[in-house]
Amino acid sequence: MSDKRIATNDTGNPAPSLEHSQSVGPNGPLLFQDHYLIQKMAHFNRERVPERVVHAKGGGAYGVLEITEDVSQFTKAGLFQKGARTESLVRFSTVAGEMGAADSMRDPRGFAMKFYTDEGNYDLVGNNTPVFFVRDPQKFSDFIHSQKRRADTHLHDNNMQWDFWTLSPESAHQVTILMSDRGTPMSWRHMHGFGSHTFLWYNAGGERFWVKYHFKTDQGIRNFTDAEAQEMRSTDPDVHIRDLHQAIDRGEYPSWTVNVQVMPFADAAGYRFNPFDLTKVWPHSDYPEITIGKWTLNRNPENYFAEIEQASFEPSAFVPGIGPSPDKMLQGRLFSYPDTHRHRIGANYLQLPVNRPKSRVDTYNFDGPMTYENPTDPVYAPNSAGGPVAADPSTWWGESYEVAGEIVRHAYDLHRDDDDFSQPRALWERVMTDTDREHLVTNIVGHASAPEVTSDTKKRVVEYWRNVHKDLGDRVAKGLGVNGTS
Ligand code: NDP
Repeated sequence: MSDKRIATNDTGNPAPSLEHSQSVGPNGPLLFQDHYLIQKMAHFNRERVPERVVHAKGGGAYGVLEITEDVSQFTKAGLFQKGARTESLVRFSTVAGEMGAADSMRDPRGFAMKFYTDEGNYDLVGNNTPVFFVRDPQKFSDFIHSQKRRADTHLHDNNMQWDFWTLSPESAHQVTILMSDRGTPMSWRHMHGFGSHTFLWYNAGGERFWVKYHFKTDQGIRNFTDAEAQEMRSTDPDVHIRDLHQAIDRGEYPSWTVNVQVMPFADAAGYRFNPFDLTKVWPHSDYPEITIGKWTLNRNPENYFAEIEQASFEPSAFVPGIGPSPDKMLQGRLFSYPDTHRHRIGANYLQLPVNRPKSRVDTYNFDGPMTYENPTDPVYAPNSAGGPVAADPSTWWGESYEVAGEIVRHAYDLHRDDDDFSQPRALWERVMTDTDREHLVTNIVGHASAPEVTSDTKKRVVEYWRNVHKDLGDRVAKGLGVNGTS
């Protein structure tokens, strides 16, 4: 008997042929009864799920988070207790590019992590930058539209990008980092990851803290110059997927040192920056980074579509000991991430192996398309039939705190040092090297010199950068050949 594997259709019936459709004689028309062919074509027509509306192009791997320091005074979350080892998944991505876009585009990089903890999934949906372009989710879809394609020509349009940025001064911090060489990382292994948002931590005694996560690359920061990034777009558009996959295959497991900044709960009100504003960092001199562990990637996915394309990350997946802060962008994302998964993959996306918690799930949500695991009776609560009951109230106690105020539509209250430009100015003045500054200027000038960028926009570009720093604005003005003072 042959030991060859016999192909089947999806109902498990042996395949009649992998080459020939059923026809009336060798030269005749095909038969509608060829169910094997019909299933093959019909399934192929449905192979794609909608691509992500942002972060469409990406890749990922599995790894492990190991906690080496005791931070139980700040959080009771099991995954952050000293000695804990938690299996995790990461997906890196660009933001604006479509599924086939080049990895070396100038763009922030998504840095989405899923931790399969004993208390359910904990997801951190970060970026390779500590800040973001906007601070209110009202502006998020407008921002993304300005980075994608025009409605009329379906072309990318640098004028649209600069138009939005210069009319949204809160973007200056993120655009400074984006236009620096950190906007074109050499690989995903050579960039940092940031939780970006501020989160709530609370300990077993219910004491609360605000926290920011920093994943610092152990490989060192390495970036492409603008010219190298452009060249790479044609020589290897998939350079970042390839680099990560090959490094892990070689046994060169990339790692990141996991740091946090911790702010006592009561400090937030009087802190010199609004600590929930996603366009700001907490300067290290105020809140130093504390190392808590190591995160290492050590396993490639075996099936890209099943494990990466269908991977779903949602910042709303919290474990006891961690909760949301009033960061408005985070609040918006708590809804929009799971909502996009329900649309893109389906209501039961959390039943897929890559998304399913490794811990027990005992829920009253049931049915819907592609249900694989359904709860048994009773299907309602409260019930007298022994169904699952809510956790002990102490489990989530720490996440409750008092808020009060009028219902408004208003910008954040300004704290003492809040403005849109002083933090990018600190980056330009104190942190960047001369080479970093030179590349920042040439990258901005190259980008804003695209033929579609109007002279009015160019003047606003110059003013935008003069607000960050006069020297920077003057150098951009010189490069663009405009004065800028309109
Ligand atoms: P510090 O000098 O203590 O920290 C500066 C930080 O900037 C370091 O984390 C450094 O770490 C990072 N950095 C260095 N070069 C660049 C670059 N070209 N682009 C982006 N980041 C870079 O100063 P402060 O904490 O007072 O922050 C000063 C400014 O540094 C901030 O206004 C912000 O723009 C930037 N920054 C601050 C961070 C924070 O959380 N405090 C985090 C990242 C940036 P590394 O070289 O390892 O990235």
